[in-house]
Amino acid sequence: MIIDSHTHIRAGNNNISSFLKGMDEAGVDMSVVCPIAPVELGFMDNKYVADLVKQYPDRFIGYCSVHPSDKKALDELRRAVEDYGLKGLKLHPPIQNVSLLDPRFGPIFEACIDYDIPVLVHTGPVYSRNARMAFADSVDVDEMAIRYPKCKFIIAHGHPFGMDPVMVAKHENVYIDTTSTTSEYLTMFPQLDTMLYDWMRRDDRILFGSDSNQNHPERAASDLKPLRAMRISDESKEKLFSGNIKQLLHIK
Ligand SMILES: [Zn+2]
Repeated sequence: MIIDSHTHIRAGNNNISSFLKGMDEAGVDMSVVCPIAPVELGFMDNKYVADLVKQYPDRFIGYCSVHPSDKKALDELRRAVEDYGLKGLKLHPPIQNVSLLDPRFGPIFEACIDYDIPVLVHTGPVYSRNARMAFADSVDVDEMAIRYPKCKFIIAHGHPFGMDPVMVAKHENVYIDTTSTTSEYLTMFPQLDTMLYDWMRRDDRILFGSDSNQNHPERAASDLKPLRAMRISDESKEKLFSGNIKQLLHIK
């Protein structure tokens, strides 16, 4: 089984069939879809994700997103988890223009601990000129992982050769997703596969993700190709492709 642990639903293209086709072509069974709050940023809202999961319960798992400047963020998180059944919180600090260290995240992370849902945090590349790279630093995840040792964080786009993401994943409550960066490096240097996997070091906390969306459904297949070819054990592959995310999200 293959679960893509990091995909997006963008506004302006409600045609889900291209997304599903991309999943089928890649051999992906299920995708975790993420909004980014607020909707003005160009992603669909939590309710849309919930409806999508309801419509395709065998294909999609949903995360929610909130912004700490929203005074009702905590209510929205509660609604997203309790009423909508969403299974994680997605944050993109640079495009949300907020630091992960912002104290307003405190009660939000406490709620994530209570619900036992992970927080998927964008780190690394920031293409928009209006967005601050300073907010995309995985060192911020290190800080929050120490402040909230019971909160589970996922470093998105964890750079496999970047000292920081790999070191931050020293924390037992920190996971790394392979989105973009790992597949890119494995495509360029396939012979580095086992070294790279060793360097990332923790086969129970690495998650396959592709960052696909309706406009780029092909990313799942291209990200999977070099990962499938890795010279790691079948057991490690099973954990990478579905086992770890299933455990994290309590999916049977
Ligand atoms: Zn993302």
